Amino acid sequence: MLERLPTPWGLVRLGVAPDHPKLKTVSRAFERIALKPGFRFFGNVEVGRDLTHADLTRLYDAVVYAFGAQSDRRLDIPGEDLAGSWSATEFVAWYNGHPDFQELQFDLNVERAVVIGNGNVALDVARMLALTPAELEPTDTTDPAIDAIGSSTVRDIVVVGRRGPAQASWTTQELKELGELAGADVAVDPAELELDAVSEASLEHDTNARRNMEVLRDFAAREPTGKPMTVRLRFLVSPVALHGDEKVQSMELVRNRLEERDGRLVAVPTDERETIECGLVFRSVGYRGVGLPELPFDERRGTIRNERGRVVGDDGAPVGRTYCAGWIKRGPTGIIGTNKKDATETVAQLLEDLHEGTLAHRDEVTAAAVEDLLSERGARAVLYHGWTSIDELERAAGEKLGRPRVKLRTWDELLEAAERVAAETA
Ligand code: NAP
Repeated sequence: MLERLPTPWGLVRLGVAPDHPKLKTVSRAFERIALKPGFRFFGNVEVGRDLTHADLTRLYDAVVYAFGAQSDRRLDIPGEDLAGSWSATEFVAWYNGHPDFQELQFDLNVERAVVIGNGNVALDVARMLALTPAELEPTDTTDPAIDAIGSSTVRDIVVVGRRGPAQASWTTQELKELGELAGADVAVDPAELELDAVSEASLEHDTNARRNMEVLRDFAAREPTGKPMTVRLRFLVSPVALHGDEKVQSMELVRNRLEERDGRLVAVPTDERETIECGLVFRSVGYRGVGLPELPFDERRGTIRNERGRVVGDDGAPVGRTYCAGWIKRGPTGIIGTNKKDATETVAQLLEDLHEGTLAHRDEVTAAAVEDLLSERGARAVLYHGWTSIDELERAAGEKLGRPRVKLRTWDELLEAAERVAAETA
């Protein structure tokens, strides 16, 4: 397993919200696999920088790419890049301790924040902003994020969806949690829950949407209880511009109506506009995959071109010995379990190729070859015991404070911790 960061687990470490520790227990599956003979971890090795695809197919019999979706979709509206307008991915990476995002300075001393999008990431961001110091304390949120969120002056968090409540892609469990926060009331305008006929009919076969509607109706019936913050869910509105001199001061929204096109309900703008004041904006409108120069890439979908995980060229013919899994295979949707199934499908194709003889072991492929090449190229690879050294340090620091771990947040800290064991045994 080659990984760009010194740490494994991808979004389980750096994407899953810190107040959802149960979701992170999937890392135990990783630990079990990592102990199997034949498994090796090479962290701090970047494909494209330290090794190329051509190197990998020379060094290994088969290569599976599972590097997810590294970028985010844009809104393409005026003012999108004003200070105070962030992508949700930046905020998530920051509060989770991703070493590339620790220099970011989030000014949370504003009255209102707007989160754009109706997916689970938008809910994570809205909920994290609303957590109290007591709720954050037992998590592995980084200290700077606990301080900033704990002392923030945000009182109103508005989540805006371009389509209606029946089209939100939230899972019901995540939505329910918004109604259980210690420091925030949840507010929904009952008028925005009125459904058009097509949306109403869709509830019959869409269990998730039906359950979401039940939760939303419960939210809409609630009276404010006087908690210091409010999370407000808005529907059928799209941002058309962000305004402000040097930083965001307001957002202009247009009201949408739904129209059926090619069997899908899409948001169509009306003439009705409104402006809301806000000092912070989080754009949570989906991730986007970024390809590798040597691999066939579908620009529209942001995925490696593939058939059920077998990487194929523009002509549809398999590239050979190259596979992909997860978000870079099928796009940035689905929960952890979706990716397990997805990986199983890819491995089934790999095994089929092995069975049919299109994939075979070559004698020149040896375990030592990759290490030799990495050291020849001057790479500072973090091996599995380097990661366990980081892991132990972080867990020990967390144990003293009753937290799962205190994450090391900079490349230097991570690499030093990884090399501590190697130095001790040298
Ligand atoms: P998502 O579920 O695809 O949500 C993206 C949202 O952005 C949708 O509501 C979409 O609306 C909206 N959107 C897209 N373009 C827009 C635009 N130009 N203007 C306004 N809104 C726009 O993606 P996500 O929230 O990034 O999550 C990614 C995946 O990770 C999801 O499958 C999610 O379930 C999963 N995840 C799971 C958990 C969990 O299980 N706890 C936590 C986080 C993430 P339309 O529907 O109209 O396109």
